Amino acid sequence: MTNDLQIAARKVASRNPATLEVLREFECAGEAVIREAVSRAQNAQAAWSRLGLRKRIFVLREFQRLLHGRQAQVARLITHEVGKPIAEAVATEILVVLDAVRFLVENSYQCLRDEQLPHGSVAMKAKTGQIVREPYGVIGIISPWNYPFSIPATEGLAALAAGNAVVLKPSEWSSLVALELASLLHQAGVPENVFQVFPGDGATGEALTKAPIDKLIFTGSAATGRRIAQVAGSRLLPVVLELGGKDPMLVLEDANVEVASSGAVWGGFVNAGQACLSVERCYVHRRLYEPFLGACVRKTLQLRVGNGLNPETDVGPLIHERQVRVVDEHVQDALIHGARVLAGGHALPELGPNFFAPTVLADVTHEMRIMREETFGPVLPVMAFEREEEAIQLANDSDYGLGASVWTRDRRRGERVARQIQAGAVMVNDAVSCFGIAEAPHGGMKASGLGRSHGRFGLEEMVRVKYVDSDRLPGLRKVWWYGYGEAFGRQMAAFLDLQFARSVVDRMKGALRSARLLSRKGKL
Ligand code: NDP
Repeated sequence: MTNDLQIAARKVASRNPATLEVLREFECAGEAVIREAVSRAQNAQAAWSRLGLRKRIFVLREFQRLLHGRQAQVARLITHEVGKPIAEAVATEILVVLDAVRFLVENSYQCLRDEQLPHGSVAMKAKTGQIVREPYGVIGIISPWNYPFSIPATEGLAALAAGNAVVLKPSEWSSLVALELASLLHQAGVPENVFQVFPGDGATGEALTKAPIDKLIFTGSAATGRRIAQVAGSRLLPVVLELGGKDPMLVLEDANVEVASSGAVWGGFVNAGQACLSVERCYVHRRLYEPFLGACVRKTLQLRVGNGLNPETDVGPLIHERQVRVVDEHVQDALIHGARVLAGGHALPELGPNFFAPTVLADVTHEMRIMREETFGPVLPVMAFEREEEAIQLANDSDYGLGASVWTRDRRRGERVARQIQAGAVMVNDAVSCFGIAEAPHGGMKASGLGRSHGRFGLEEMVRVKYVDSDRLPGLRKVWWYGYGEAFGRQMAAFLDLQFARSVVDRMKGALRSARLLSRKGKL
């Protein structure tokens, strides 16, 4: 209890990262508050599930209508709280969420309905099976600040469509956006206890992992993900872990330099580089290396850095000063080890403590932190390669495996290379934007996590699969029940021949010798 009061006494502040203006303070929810919330969610979930898919989808459509009508205010709030340019708030947050509802409206029935499961085995022909998908119950969601609306919304909407209740712990840097999401859902008709948000810090998140939720969807860093996996492992709580990335971009020798360099600059600097799928490492064929670098520098120097509320801004602030320090450390480490800065390379204190100039680095190597650790800032490190196999090997030489991109004029070649890259998603001739394809599964391998969000696979994460089987001949004892003996052994061996012997003759013999099984009566 004392411990809980101590947690409850802690506060987190939501602030505008461009101006450092404090927007609101929140008391961190403590363990008792989270437990009570989960208990209310458990009670409310049954009715939400019983409502049926058609009515739940109706509510989600209403949410879509409300969000569409209020897109400008919500986008402004996102920019206010996390700093990204307002155009990005619309394109990478609001649009993604509106389209996620479109996907659920069009596909939930098909994905979640009961499925007949025909049996191939001759022995089981008298049975009929079905796959039934049931909501888990209460899904805990812990989300980061970098996509403060689209991440909790896409995960939450899928959970709700499947009939779950949700308890969400947003990042302490993006509580206001999460509360706005809840408010829109409640206005649309989602009962308050079916979607609850609790602002707080890491300890609030930990309290949620220990509360009696039925599944946890976590999005955040690999370090926190590992801690969560340990807690979840100790109680066998199912989890989806959407973790960090170090996405490589491979520019093959037949790529269009103008297009690829624009893609690199956008993919590296979108959301000030704070995107899990952003281009964190760039490998360019030696023949294109100099022209590619030249184009990237020219385009980077044209970017306008500033407050995201200004519609002319291309790159906003980082979320907090700690992140600026990480980016600076990575750049300094690269310079000490021989990299060259071709653009940026420093913070921009004249704009505010959270700004960092979009940076292009040349001559980087895999010994540098900038090529191994997640930088999560506006830095584009570029390295040359000679052969395609070398580029693939460099791309795979990473702890992470979230996304990647391949740039080439030859689509087939791009797809062939894509198959050899260890990542959850590989784009050919674009980067990052697969997050905005509602149908596309999102998730990683290696240190980038487990499970998937978005699309059909994301919806499948929100349900337990149950197999229901009915016997068509309920009045008969089954031939494989007790009452074994030598004859039964012989008949079973013949039954295997009937099904699996290579020659037709052996199969026919098997059929004759196993026919007795049909009239077999167990002794028990
Ligand atoms: P963090 O791991 O620091 O935090 C993520 C969430 O976990 C926050 O809500 C945080 O709360 C909470 N948290 C912190 N400690 C604990 C704990 N011990 N138990 C439970 N919850 C805890 O990540 P960031 O918010 O800094 O987000 C950036 C990271 O997220 C990057 O690594 C990025 O790549 C990754 N990411 C991955 C995505 C993907 O889909 N794969 C998408 C977007 C981001 P608080 O903020 O209050 O500390």
